[in-house]
Amino acid sequence: MSDPTGSAEPAPFTAADFETRLRRAAEAAREAGLTGLLLTPGPDLLYLSGYAPVAITERITMLVVPVDGEPTMIVPKLERPDAEESPGSAVFALADWTDGSDPYEATARLLGPGRYALSDSAWAMHLLGLQAHLPDTTYGSMTAEIPMLRAIKDDDELARLAAAGAAADAAYGEILGVRFAGRTETEVGLDLADLLRRFGHSQVDFTVVGSGPNGANPHHEMGDRVIEHGDMVVLDFGGLKHGYGSDTTRTVHVGEPTDEEREVHEIVQRAQQAGFESVRVGVACQEVDRAARAVITDAGYGEQFIHRVGHGIGLTTHEPPYMVEGEQLPMRPGMCFSIEPGIYLPGRFGVRIEDIVTVTADGARRFNVTPREMAIVE
Ligand code: ZN
Ligand code: ZN
Ligand code: ZN
Repeated sequence: MSDPTGSAEPAPFTAADFETRLRRAAEAAREAGLTGLLLTPGPDLLYLSGYAPVAITERITMLVVPVDGEPTMIVPKLERPDAEESPGSAVFALADWTDGSDPYEATARLLGPGRYALSDSAWAMHLLGLQAHLPDTTYGSMTAEIPMLRAIKDDDELARLAAAGAAADAAYGEILGVRFAGRTETEVGLDLADLLRRFGHSQVDFTVVGSGPNGANPHHEMGDRVIEHGDMVVLDFGGLKHGYGSDTTRTVHVGEPTDEEREVHEIVQRAQQAGFESVRVGVACQEVDRAARAVITDAGYGEQFIHRVGHGIGLTTHEPPYMVEGEQLPMRPGMCFSIEPGIYLPGRFGVRIEDIVTVTADGARRFNVTPREMAIVE
């Protein structure tokens, strides 16, 4: 089906793209004082090699990127044909290991002594296996050692994130026209998932429909509750389009809201705007949380804003950096993250408003541009 948002499928990443990324990664590892990088299946490996095994299993796959020397990916022998077909395989060597042999001995031979950064999502058993063979080698997490590697997006990645955001916005525009009252949260959630796919998403990660009291639970996904006239409804949805994430939240009301509902929504909307306006190159990520939180605290609802204000987004819908108190990482042009303050009144209702933004030279740009005012639905 053609994509009604009109965004063309971008050209796939090439071996040259992965060569550039690998070189940049090795350089960042050198600057961090590391011996190299160890990437396991998941977003790090996808970013640097284009390779995603059909399933992430107990058999170790690892791309070893030394600061000096050629990158090598070791794979289970049975998966070697898949690895050879991946677009990045032209720019690194391939090694394999066979069932019945010790995979950690084979992997350890590629490492040697030193200090490596390892994918955050690497299996503990793989790290333990390497530690047994290399007692003097030490490890840190990719996020801690090289926080900027995937956090700063290039122009191609920004275009994909913008397209994903536009698709999520188009889905929101459509959902305002569906019937809410008398239908279950799950029915509305399935509508949202259908819309995301219609607007080009290949994967739907979540469709939160939190009606009435369920909206006060930020992790409520959707359920059998029948939406009633008078409900606030939190709609938080996203997934992947062209390999990059969308994630947006709007809170709507079924019929006319009360004064209190209007006021709470308006506070969250002002908090979201304050977070947006706090985005500046060089300012610490925690300042976005502080700016949004100050609005909610000043309005007397500080205790009801029970989560950080945002998270990074890219190849996954939730990733570092986190916009949270204590995060000192400075914002840089090309970083992309959510700003999603909320107020949660247990047993009653919740309000959350979320946009994905990217840091620009002079502030921030939104990838979600649907009205943040409370929409009235039927
Ligand atoms: Zn109401
Ligand atoms: Zn969200
Ligand atoms: Zn989010």
